[in-house]
Order: sequence, then C-alpha cells, then structure tokens
Amino acid sequence: MELEKKKSPPHALLLPYPAQGHINPMLQFSKRLVSKGIKVTLANTVCISNSMLSDPKSLISFETYSDGFDQGGYAQAESVDIYLSSLRTVGSRTLQDLIKKLDESGNPVNVLIYDGFMPWALDVASKFGLVKAVFFTQSCAVNYIYYNVYKGLISLPRPGDNPSIISIPGLPLFRSWETPAPLDYLDLIVNQFSNVDDADWVFFNAFQKLEEEVLGYMPEIWKVRTVGPTLPSMYLDKRLEDDKDYAINLFKPNDEVCMNWLNDKPSGSVIYVSFGSFITVSAEQMEEIAQGLKDCNHNFLWVVRKSEEEKLPKNFINEISGKGLVVTWSPQLEILTHKSVGCFVTHCGFNSVLEAISLGVPMVGIPQWTDQPANAKYVEDVWGVGVRARPDDKGIVKGKVLQSLITEVMEGEKGKTIKTRAANWKNLAREAVDEGGTSDSNINEFAATLLH
Ligand code: UDP
Repeated sequence: MELEKKKSPPHALLLPYPAQGHINPMLQFSKRLVSKGIKVTLANTVCISNSMLSDPKSLISFETYSDGFDQGGYAQAESVDIYLSSLRTVGSRTLQDLIKKLDESGNPVNVLIYDGFMPWALDVASKFGLVKAVFFTQSCAVNYIYYNVYKGLISLPRPGDNPSIISIPGLPLFRSWETPAPLDYLDLIVNQFSNVDDADWVFFNAFQKLEEEVLGYMPEIWKVRTVGPTLPSMYLDKRLEDDKDYAINLFKPNDEVCMNWLNDKPSGSVIYVSFGSFITVSAEQMEEIAQGLKDCNHNFLWVVRKSEEEKLPKNFINEISGKGLVVTWSPQLEILTHKSVGCFVTHCGFNSVLEAISLGVPMVGIPQWTDQPANAKYVEDVWGVGVRARPDDKGIVKGKVLQSLITEVMEGEKGKTIKTRAANWKNLAREAVDEGGTSDSNINEFAATLLH
C-alpha cells in the first residue's frame, strides 16, 4: 500500500513594519497561528534583524528583506519621506525575492500578512496570487478616524487652527487636542486605506468588546476580525507553552535591576513610567516629568532610553536615590504584572495601553503625538481605566499636573473606580483570547480557511 504523502501545512509570511511597537504584536500573532497548525515565517528588515538582541527560540522561522538602509534603518535616512519611499521600492523588490526564495526552497508561501503601514505589500501578494491579509497595530477607533480622513469626510486639525469638534458616527466626539496629530507622514497613514478593500482579511490587534461600537461601523466590504490582545499567552490564557515574552528586543532590558528593586516595595505602591520605544520628549517636558515624579508621594521606576538620558535634570539620579529608579529599557510586561506596581504613566502608545488594559493596570496618559492623544481619550472617557494630562499652550504637561493625576489615581475616589474597571477589562481581555473567545474564534476561522 502506498503511503499517503503528508500534506505540508499552509505557510503564512508575516511582514511587520520595522519598529518595536509593530513587531511585537505580529510576533505574538505568529505564535497563535503556529498553535493552530500554520507554518509561519516572519520577515524583518536586515537592520532590525541585526539589532535583535537574541535569537528568538521559537517555532517561527525568521527571514529578512531590505528597506534600503541595512546599516541604520530609519535612523540612517535623511528624512521620513526618503525612508518610506525606500521601504516601498526596495522593500517591494526584496520581498518578491524572498517569496521566490521560499518557493524555490520548497516552502511556498500561501498568505501574506502585512502591516497596514505597508500597503504596497498587497500588490506583491497579488502578483504571487497569495491570500492577502492586512494587520493593523493601531486601535480600530484610530484607524477609523484615518479612514474618514482618507475618504475626505474629515480633516485633522493642525496647530493654530481654531478649536473644533470632530464628529464621526461610531466614535465619541473628539475635540481638536484629542485627535490623532497630523504628521509629516500623514500620507503614509492615510494611504493605508488606498487598497484595503482588496485585502481578503483585515485584522486588528484589539478585541471585540474593547471596540464593539466602532467595529459595527467598519465598511462591510472589509472582512474585519479582531485577533488581540497580542500579549504572550502566559499573561492571558496560558494555553501556549513557554510563551512568556515577546522574544524580540531591540533594546537591552535591565531585568534584574528592575525586579530586585520592585521586590521590596509595598504592594501597589510604585509608579511605572515609560514613553515607549520611539518618541523623543523635549528637554522641558522631561524636566517637568522629573519634577512631578520627585514631588509625588510614591516610588517610581522610569524608563529613559539611552538616547534620552542627557535630558534628565542634572543631579536628578542622586536626588531620587531610594525613591526612584531610572533604567534604559525594562521588561515591561513583567513590571506591569508585578504586585508592587500601582499605576502606569504612559505615552499611550497602543501596545502599552493594550498591555495595561489586559493586565489591569490603571494609567496616567501623557500622550505626545500620532495616535497617542486619541488612545488617551479612550483610556479616560471610553474604557475608564485611567486619566490623562492636558498639555498647556506650549504643549507641555507641567510637573504639578502630573503629580495631581498620579495622586488622583493612587489615592483618590476616582482611582477606586478606575481600579475596578481595569480589573474588569483584564478579565474580558483574557476571555477574548481564551478557548472559544472572540479573538480565538477569529483566528480559528482564518486558520480553517487556510487548512482546507
Ligand atoms: N517596552 C518594553 N520595555 C520598555 C518600554 C516599552 O518592553 O522599557 C515595550 C512595550 O511592552 C510595548 C512596546 O515596547 O510592547 C512599545 O509599544 P507602544 O505601542 O506602547 O509604543 P511605541 O514604542 O510604538 O511608541
């Protein structure tokens, strides 16, 4: 009897935008796909691949393509425009090379899952007849705002414009200062939607209950599915073995220093402060934050990336010894789950917000740009899991403002409600990815179409 030839599993190629906040969610999504029987290859730019601090040991294969800046990536380009244009042209070409290479080596790709920031990848997928899936790493609400800009239904207020209110069905009213900031690269963001109608799947790193209302307004032509929150399984449903961290770090975390320091602090007493992997905060803003933290009644652990360190006030480190710890990068998930941490002062990058929501940690938002002001609005007004600072006319959040918001969350009546809501969202987040939850079912549905 002839042995039946074993069918090889469907093969998904994942293409994250080259930044920590975009790689983490796709990497986690990859792990979920692997658990459903899909073979996954994740392609990073050469520069990102070279800056990965350790070889992620996992069932995912890693490959590279080029953004045209193999040495320094984004930082090496003279301008955002130059970088993005190179990412598109060199990226398209080298992505095609990669797909051909995988094909020739007996690992043909069936589906391309690409970051919404790289809509050109859809054309590459079409050329090879692949299933096309776009993956958005910003919230559904923020993407829906950008979609409305793309459609010409609204425009984002620019600095100096008269204050206005933006009204979009499915979303709360946005005042000027709460909308996503119009950026140098607004075209990139808005053009994400230029070909999204042609995608076979539209994935969001969110979960149904978190963004129920706006999800109901998404264009019907899109096959929208929420697949988040994309945190390591260990922090949620615990169904994936050994899935404890993101496994790709572009900065070196000071794990031991952080954990040792937190371990002897009383429960719920520490403020964790981080502004993510990307933004630079002005020296003036840095000073105000430093002052606010110094004056508040709580211990704090502050992530100040190496490139930002010189903006810390002179003597600050000496003045805060005992009360505060400054590190250049942290194991954020471990910190957010540490019992001593009571509040997260954050720039409201969407991953950070989603992590805090999923882990039940109250937030104080100090949003800076892009989607952060809108995320912060949701944190306070829609999800009720924190408060946010309103900047002054110069765009600076004063130390005193930060101090009083921290007090409100840590000690005030409002803080109690926030903690209850945070605990509730934490359960809903876990439910979504656990067996039979909305995100789990959506991933099953996608995997099933590939497997049959
Ligand atoms: N992060 C971390 N250690 C830090 C600061 C951030 O591991 O000290 C991780 C964090 O858990 C999140 C990502 O980096 O997954 C930051 O993404 P986010 O969208 O919040 O901000 P961005 O870096 O894109 O501004």
